[in-house]
Amino acid sequence: MKLTFPHIGDAHLVGRILFSELGIEIVTPPYNTISGMEKGSEVSPDEICLPFKLMVSNLMAAHAMGADTVVMPATMGPCRLGEYGELLKSILDKRGYHFRWILLDSPKSIGVKEFLRRLSYLVSDSEKKLPKILSAVNGSYRIIKGLEKLEQKAHLRGGYEEQRGSCKKLIAACRRDLSEADSIRKALGSIRQYHKQLDQIKVNKTKTPLHLLMAGEIYSMIEPFANHHMEELLMDMGVSFEKRVTLGWWIDRTIVNPLQLKKRILGNRYMPHEIGGYAKDTVAEGILCARKGYDGVIQVFPVGCMPEIVAKSVFGKMMKENRLSVLTVIYDEMGGEAGYITRIEAFVDMLSRRKRIEVNQKRTVLNNKKRGKINVLPGH
Ligand code: SF4
Repeated sequence: MKLTFPHIGDAHLVGRILFSELGIEIVTPPYNTISGMEKGSEVSPDEICLPFKLMVSNLMAAHAMGADTVVMPATMGPCRLGEYGELLKSILDKRGYHFRWILLDSPKSIGVKEFLRRLSYLVSDSEKKLPKILSAVNGSYRIIKGLEKLEQKAHLRGGYEEQRGSCKKLIAACRRDLSEADSIRKALGSIRQYHKQLDQIKVNKTKTPLHLLMAGEIYSMIEPFANHHMEELLMDMGVSFEKRVTLGWWIDRTIVNPLQLKKRILGNRYMPHEIGGYAKDTVAEGILCARKGYDGVIQVFPVGCMPEIVAKSVFGKMMKENRLSVLTVIYDEMGGEAGYITRIEAFVDMLSRRKRIEVNQKRTVLNNKKRGKINVLPGH
């Protein structure tokens, strides 16, 4: 068995370590590129969303590299991802790209027994005993969570760093090390080291950077090519931001602890029903932002994504009712980045100005209090 899977964020880093530990050969397709996307678009239905086109091109490339089995996550939900697996198979079969398919639907959709049957097929080539397999799976999960925690810290700390770019460089170095790590133990050790290094990066706590939330469609959130490397852009701009929808979040939400994570989105008057994808989560994140006083939200999704278009219109209502600023960035198949960058820069610029004014006003009020003066707020 030569296993492959489409690119989605850091899955290939962790997948390589996990399967090499289990003695299963994997084929990692080349990173997403514009030309790959064009090849994917040529064979995909016109109206299908962007992640499908990228995934199909990944699998075509992996087939050319000798892969014969595909493992991919799926959802049996109402959005298009629910039919990705079957459609990919049908399109690729017709063009002579034959694979064996292992679709990892959520246990809730296919039942725990069937889920375990598919997992056992996935590792059927491994000579390792069950305890070793389980410990490798657990170790890989810890790699994912450790790396994401490191990134989360770097995203927040990036706004306060004294030397612009230090956090970004550290994350890139960690990824490089993980791409060379030959065991789970080494990968976990390396992540621990980078956590220590990140804590030592000098910060200026008197800074008042913007605090934003990045939310939106799951593939665009996780795969950097699909969001034109927005995280790096925000770090370059000195913004402090959070991003909760990650690979580890998906695993928790789908397999490890679906009930716990779903509880958070249940009481949501703006979107009472699940409409597919993770639109309900996106809206719940927006509500949280408004409550916690974040400076703004950047919603990202690919052109043609139905659930997030609905979430976008809900954001419109929320912006009117709450003090919430939202920028929606819809990525299409055009490779040009300048337009996206300009819009994000303008949004950050506008919010930064507003924040500067607010911070100055607060300082004046505080100083006046200290001097015993009566505060007169602007407009009174
Ligand atoms: S959430 Fe949107 S982009 Fe993702 S599969 Fe569903 S429709 Fe497509």
